[in-house]
Amino acid sequence: MGCNNTCTFCIVPHLRGKERDRRPGDVLAEVKAVVDAGAIEVTLLGQNVNSYGVSFGQRDAFARLLRACGEIEGLERVRFTSPHPAAFTDDVIEAMAQTPNVMPSLHMPLQSGSDRVLRAMRRSYRSARFLGIIDRVRDAIPEAAITTDIIVGFPGETEEDFAETLRVVETSRFSSAFTFQYSKRPGTPAADLPDQVPAEVVAERYGRLVELQERIGTAENAALVGTAVEVLVSDQDGRKDAASGRTTGRARDNRLVHVGLPPEMSDGDRPRPGDVVETTITKAAPHHLVSDGAGVRVRRTRSGDAWQARRDGGDACGVPTGGAGGDAGERRPVSLGLPTLRVR
Ligand code: SF4
Repeated sequence: MGCNNTCTFCIVPHLRGKERDRRPGDVLAEVKAVVDAGAIEVTLLGQNVNSYGVSFGQRDAFARLLRACGEIEGLERVRFTSPHPAAFTDDVIEAMAQTPNVMPSLHMPLQSGSDRVLRAMRRSYRSARFLGIIDRVRDAIPEAAITTDIIVGFPGETEEDFAETLRVVETSRFSSAFTFQYSKRPGTPAADLPDQVPAEVVAERYGRLVELQERIGTAENAALVGTAVEVLVSDQDGRKDAASGRTTGRARDNRLVHVGLPPEMSDGDRPRPGDVVETTITKAAPHHLVSDGAGVRVRRTRSGDAWQARRDGGDACGVPTGGAGGDAGERRPVSLGLPTLRVR
């Protein structure tokens, strides 16, 4: 929680204050509680999640936490978001590669490929460091899907700066990117900078960036056609499933996958949110993958059972609140991974 950095475009430090670390035992107790209640995936959240441990003086605390998650029986998928490139250390890459339930995906914000703009943003890494991390992650985890955040049109950004962003994007081969046109956040230092980029220039650069990333995303996804994939069915990602007759979820690398189920499959055999479907990719698009007519194997999971019990109004979700920082006896939902669980 909170952030010790001072990125000039960001209001978070002002709103949330300094970083605070929960103790590892507390975090792990909460993870175990939601796993006991049926979750098979968790996401470790932090504003700079890989800075974890600074407040209690343990430099390798985040890598240790990942490895400890690997020891939790029944926990199939561990993700984390978002790491800061400046704090990214090789022990985390090793822990990712050596812990089987830590998923091969990494979301690491770039923000700009221009070192001059990064400096103006007060982002303390440079593009070479960012690209070096990506190289090392891919060396250790070749199947990793890497995603990012990018801001276009930060005050003072020149065409040369923007070309640097395009260069880093081209080199990084992101599977997808959250792209933003810079907009002033009142109260941030960047909002008062004099050399704001005209809106039409920002929009034009943004269009070029999106076009480049769509081309890369399409190519990266196309390379997966014909490969086997394990999809954890989601109850949130498949808005068009009813019309398409597909079910939707996330692959191990966090790619969105729409899976066509055999028409003859009975309702009782269909995967539920939280179940796992193994199939083969038949088609790629810039932002998702499709498996149609490829054969599916459904693995029913505790997570699917918990989802079903919740749907049926059953009693599957007893999670103690103590480790989550709630008052003893408080009843409230936990939203860590699948499924959404109601705390009793
Ligand atoms: S962008 Fe991220 S690292 Fe920078 S100040 Fe905001 S929360 Fe902190």
